[in-house]
Amino acid sequence: MEYFLRCIECGNIYHDDLIYTCSKCNGLLEVLFDYSEVEFKLDGKDIWVWKYRDLLPVRIDPITLREGGTPLYNVKRIAEKSGISRVYVKHEGLNPSGSFKDRGMTVGITKAVELKMRAVICASTGNTSASMAMYAARANIKAIVILPARKVAAGKLAQALMHQARVIAIKGNFDRALEIVRDLSLKRKFYLLNSINPFRLEGQKTIAYEIVDELGHSPDAIFVPVGNAGNISAIFKGFVELKELGFIDELPKMIGVQAQGANPIYKAYVEGKESIEPLKNPETIATAIRIGNPVNAKKALRAVYKSKGMVIQVSDDEIVEAQKMLAKEGIGVEPASAASVAGLLKDSLDFNLEEVVCIATGNLLKDPDEVISISGKPVEVEATINSIEKLL
Ligand SMILES: *Cc1c(COP(=O)(O)O)cnc(C)c1O
Ligand SMILES: [Zn+2]
Repeated sequence: MEYFLRCIECGNIYHDDLIYTCSKCNGLLEVLFDYSEVEFKLDGKDIWVWKYRDLLPVRIDPITLREGGTPLYNVKRIAEKSGISRVYVKHEGLNPSGSFKDRGMTVGITKAVELKMRAVICASTGNTSASMAMYAARANIKAIVILPARKVAAGKLAQALMHQARVIAIKGNFDRALEIVRDLSLKRKFYLLNSINPFRLEGQKTIAYEIVDELGHSPDAIFVPVGNAGNISAIFKGFVELKELGFIDELPKMIGVQAQGANPIYKAYVEGKESIEPLKNPETIATAIRIGNPVNAKKALRAVYKSKGMVIQVSDDEIVEAQKMLAKEGIGVEPASAASVAGLLKDSLDFNLEEVVCIATGNLLKDPDEVISISGKPVEVEATINSIEKLL
């Protein structure tokens, strides 16, 4: 399928793939296709990322670990609590590296190989680096990761290290790490795989395809945890394309959920603005969304306004509460992932919603320290039946 890149601000068009932002106005880019004939059906069968290859912008065979095809769980107790008839959770934590980032990386790494890049590079709060390292290993290409020192959860760091990325921890936060990799990628032949990369987002839009493929229709709303705001933008684009192709009639409301301590998009939304004021020192237990200067803010705000959705902020306590509710339904997630459900359970929602999907973005095993800190350690006793029976 033919495709090209277009600037979302000035509309300038690019046919060269090795570009991250508009060279005229520095605006964000998006991939557009000729949508006249698409070669896949939404028939509920064999669901995974590369089922939708016809709308994935690469020209070589994919580097894949069989990502996507994640389960959509019907969560009755959460539904009851929210007062909405049908609530589903799409568990992106069950992707190969344990987060939705794999959908983007399978496309992004394939593009890096196609462009014959020397190495791939990213800044990361953890999951991007874990996923990039894994896919880079699969492709046998060098991976360079820049992280905020001592701010990355153990599970994520372990993955980046084990899959042999060159991991560099900086004395600065994620936003600074991203500035650095953006500069480096332009200076050297390193392919940038943060979500500013429009090809990566193409992989992530398959979340929308899969939801409609499985349900057979579009739900009323999608709740998404928002950090750098790539995922909510990508999912919205997926729905826009499905509408364009006639697979759905209406777009779901895009509902972005931010942590109170890292809420620049929430603030912009409340003031009705199209762009954000960066936040200097973002802080939240949900490290994957601890971001003060989200690069995709403009795309995300457009998605929210165009779909008549909204942006919600939730406290760390509300996030932990939602994480525990998910755990009680058998769904183990890291804190950032639970933000979507925390948003759903806020009573500030005044829409009339019948059916919604919450995206659970990453796996519980990513952040064991957080889990132990909220659940407590197991009690230690003498190794006798008697002492154990006393406890039960
Ligand atoms: C990356 C990530 C997010 C944030 O996604 P953005 O596209 O940056 O908004 C949320 N949760 C988890 C678990 C993530 O890994
Ligand atoms: Zn432009």
